[in-house]
Formats: sequence, structure tokens, C-alpha cells
Amino acid sequence: MNYHKKIFGPIIFILIILSVAVAHQFFYNQKILKEIESQKTGDIAYQHLITTKDVAPLPETPGQRVKLPILMYHHIGALPEKATSLRKDLTVSTEDFETQVKWLAKNGYHTISLKDLYNYSLGKFILPEKPIIFTFDDGYQDVFVNAIPILKKYGFVGSFAIITQYPGTQNGDNIYASWDDITSAYLTGNEIVSHTQDHFDGSNPKYSSEFIHKNLCASKTDIKDRLGLDTNILIYPYGHYTAQYIKEAKSCGFDLGITVHEGNKINPKNLMEIPRVRVHGNETLEKFIQLLY
Ligand SMILES: [Zn+2]
Repeated sequence: MNYHKKIFGPIIFILIILSVAVAHQFFYNQKILKEIESQKTGDIAYQHLITTKDVAPLPETPGQRVKLPILMYHHIGALPEKATSLRKDLTVSTEDFETQVKWLAKNGYHTISLKDLYNYSLGKFILPEKPIIFTFDDGYQDVFVNAIPILKKYGFVGSFAIITQYPGTQNGDNIYASWDDITSAYLTGNEIVSHTQDHFDGSNPKYSSEFIHKNLCASKTDIKDRLGLDTNILIYPYGHYTAQYIKEAKSCGFDLGITVHEGNKINPKNLMEIPRVRVHGNETLEKFIQLLY
């Protein structure tokens, strides 16, 4: 009897803790869903987060995987006034970003480009020790202002996914870098890749194959016209794609498709479904380091 009394207390305590944790997660999810609903559908940043909840595990494909974390960032810098929890999740402060970059540099990581990964898959590039890739989606101006100098300071480069009709524009709190910013980043050794012309959702059935083909090919042409660069790399908006979408992307000359599937091991035989590692705002350094292992 005494024994039962002894374990009863701790069990009740654990149950209370678990209930509080579950309730907290529930209310947090409700808050995010409410915020998503209150946003207009055209808001890119919010739609990005919706995808975090939707992401299915990457289908298993045969082939040897190589350890290569591809970090996914959106905003780097200060939060706008009245930032929602979604925007907070997408924004890594300049200080946190420098802490992460500094740690990587100190621990022997070397940045490579997505193009290097492609060449590696062809046997034309040898991976350095501890390779890593920084990707920045959407081409926000804060990334060009805040992240590039830090990358440069530690001898790193980044890969920037540009929505080719957006440079120099603004949508609410989202300010897009100009083509001058993008050109200067490119000329100083950073990589520029396509994120479509207008960030359309590639898995939405309302878009015809013709539309997908035209939009993806045109984004490639836009980059070629602006930078003289022939990119064969596409980062899928919202991480959404279908088999037909991949087919259209390939027919436009894209050889690499970058997703939001979570993972830090790359299968060089499945280049149109490359996973990444999402870096959230307000992440501790310990949590960030865990993403790499
Ligand atoms: Zn995007």
C-alpha cells in the first residue's frame, strides 16, 4: 500500500506536466492557424510557414547519401513592428546569424555552392571537409544587408533564391533586394538561383503545364538577362512540386530542385528533390548545432 502511495504522487505530477505541455502546444498551433487565416493569400512569408506543417518525408530513393547540410533561411535582421509569431519564426537576428556562422567557421565547415553540389554529382567536384550550403529564399533586402557581410567576414558564400519579378518591390513588411544588390552579391562570389518569376505554388492544380513551363523558363531567362548567368538550379516556392512540375523544370534546363523536406543527407542520384535544414528564428546555438548531425 505504501509503495502505491509513493509512486502515485510522481505519476500525478508527470501527468500534470504532460497536460500542460500538450495544452501549450495546442494553443500555440491555434494561434499560428489564426494568424495564417488572417493573412491575405498573397503573403509569401506566411505561406512558407504553412508548408512547414505540410511537409511529408522525402520518398526513399536508391543511392548513396552524402552528409551535406543545406541551411534554409528567409529573413536576417531585426523584426518589423508588431511582428507575428510566424514572422518571428522566419527571422533570424543578425546576432544569432553571426553566432551560427562563427561556430561553423570555428568548427571547420566550408561553404560550397549548389552548383558545386551539382558538379559533385557529375564527379567534377571534390567536396571539402565538412561541406555546408547557406540558402536564402525569396531575396529579401535584409539578407543582402545583414547576412552577406557576416558570411564574407568568415570566408563563406551563400546561395540566394530570387523571385525574378520581385527585386526592388515591397509587399507589406517584405522588402525585396534590388537587382543592383543581387548583382553585387553575385559579383562578389555568391550564388544566385531561381525561385520562379512570381512565387506561384507549383502543386496548385490551377496552374497548367504550359504556365509552369513558361514561368520557370522565363525566370531562368530573367537571371541570364540581368547577370549573364545560366543557372540550372531552382528552389521550389513553398517547397511544393509535382511530377509534372519537375518534368517542366527539367525541360527548361533545371538540373537541381531544392525542397523544404527536412534532411541533411543528400542523394546525388535524386537531384530534383534535395532536402534542407530549416533554421528558425530565436533558435539556440545548441539547437542549431543539432541540425547538423
Ligand atoms: Zn519562397
